[in-house]
Amino acid sequence: MTGNDTVSYLNDEVAVTAETAPSGAEVHESTKPAAQEETKGIIESDVLVIGAGFSGITAIDRFRKLGMKVKCLESGSDFGGVWYWNRYPGARVDSECPFYQLNIPEVYKDWHFTQRFSDHRELRQYMAHIDKVLNLRKDTYFNARVNDARWDEATSTWTVKTLQGHEAKAKYLILCTGLLHRTYTPDFQGIKDYKGEIHHSGEWDESFSAKGKKIAIIGAGATAVQITQELGKQADELTVFLRRPSYCLPMRQRSWTKEEQHQWKAFYPVLFKEGRDSAVGFPTARNPNGLFDVSESAREALFDELWERGGFNFQLANFKDTALDKDVNKVPSK
Ligand SMILES: Cc1cc2nc3c(=O)[nH]c(=O)nc-3n(C[C@H](O)[C@H](O)[C@H](O)COP(=O)(O)OP(=O)(O)OC[C@H]3O[C@@H](n4cnc5c(N)ncnc54)[C@H](O)[C@@H]3O)c2cc1C
Repeated sequence: MTGNDTVSYLNDEVAVTAETAPSGAEVHESTKPAAQEETKGIIESDVLVIGAGFSGITAIDRFRKLGMKVKCLESGSDFGGVWYWNRYPGARVDSECPFYQLNIPEVYKDWHFTQRFSDHRELRQYMAHIDKVLNLRKDTYFNARVNDARWDEATSTWTVKTLQGHEAKAKYLILCTGLLHRTYTPDFQGIKDYKGEIHHSGEWDESFSAKGKKIAIIGAGATAVQITQELGKQADELTVFLRRPSYCLPMRQRSWTKEEQHQWKAFYPVLFKEGRDSAVGFPTARNPNGLFDVSESAREALFDELWERGGFNFQLANFKDTALDKDVNKVPSK
């Protein structure tokens, strides 16, 4: 697959922009031509939000609740942001339930995640639920990639245009454009002459099967670790090319029952507040002790407990100097 081919889940979508990174490599994004009726007339609102991932959705909801008229322009064909674009095998969160969701009571009231760590499919179902509850679609224009924004001092108005021909005017412009939704393909020597198939995690053809294939994965970040675990089960042969290995821990995936979530929901407001007030976004109690403040057996007991708890607990609830002191760090790393 090259940057200009279409992939099945992006049916009919074409590359409408191909920017160039400083290295000369292509930064690529695909988006559909907009429907004609969508581009007719000027879109007018108090607030114009660009992007319909978690940030854009939150912005629409909050400004509406302030009594303002809000419209949203989104390059993709649906809500989701990174979860719209990322459909590679194994794509899922590493932030556990219930913390990776919107803090909007009418949205979480009737929603249940099925697993402790949701995958991309469930997150798109969750997006559809949010859309239904908040009625977002009526104010959102999809397949609308913004490529021009101008401020008029005299009228205090932004005029925003898209590649597909929309024109929108608003006093407030809110950029919820994210940072992880575009693909980047390094300009590897010889890549243009490569005779095999090339796939990018951010533009995944969901019909792809690794069965009977010889696969090479380039990279060793979170995405590569997730893909490796899934394709490793199917491929005849799988090789991972990595510069530096990742630090990986068992996440302890498990199902999350409705009953369990029902009980947790009473505490969501407190948990979300604790998360917001914390240094890292999770309401995890920090460990006040340094590693060498406690006996070796107490240390081992904590490591075992955190290892079993999974998620980010091994980092967040570990001794306070684990991430800051090289000598201390060597102990849990062993
Ligand atoms: C595979 C993966 C796993 C992740 N897991 C976690 C996790 O476990 N925990 C965590 O906290 N975070 C995680 N993240 C980070 C994730 O980016 C955020 O959690 C969050 O989804 C970002 O939402 P956002 O709305 O700010 O941005 P995005 O989701 O990136 O949305 C931005 C939107 O803006 C649109 N857009 C951009 N430019 C334009 C333009 N010019 N015109 C129109 N539209 C435009 C894009 O199409 C996109 O839909 C993960 C990211 C990925 C890719």
